[in-house]
Amino acid sequence: MSNEPYSKLFLCPKCQLQKLDITKIGILGCEADDMWDENTIQILQCQGCGFKAIGLYQEEHRGVLDDETWQHRGFFAPEEKTQELETLLDKLPNQRDERQTIKIVDYIKDGNKYYQTFNIL
Ligand SMILES: [Zn+2]
Repeated sequence: MSNEPYSKLFLCPKCQLQKLDITKIGILGCEADDMWDENTIQILQCQGCGFKAIGLYQEEHRGVLDDETWQHRGFFAPEEKTQELETLLDKLPNQRDERQTIKIVDYIKDGNKYYQTFNIL
């Protein structure tokens, strides 16, 4: 991923245009049993059709150099869930607050469990 996450637009799964923008991000560290070293949670919004979703970018640094593994997915979360997360991310930089971190992790868990995903390309 580039160092400027806001500079690139991705493919919108709804209108199929390259207009999906990352409008907010929150970076989380890993938990000991987590296979990912870095989790970035995102609010995605399409500049074309207005579609909103929760995005998750994950990176693994372990192993051989230059052999980074990453995964970038979006969740078709209900609008109120996305809105709730957006409000939470607005409270950054207070994200060091452990309770907020736990809350954000819940969105990742819920996303993996309940929502359909799409690849962010
Ligand atoms: Zn769209």
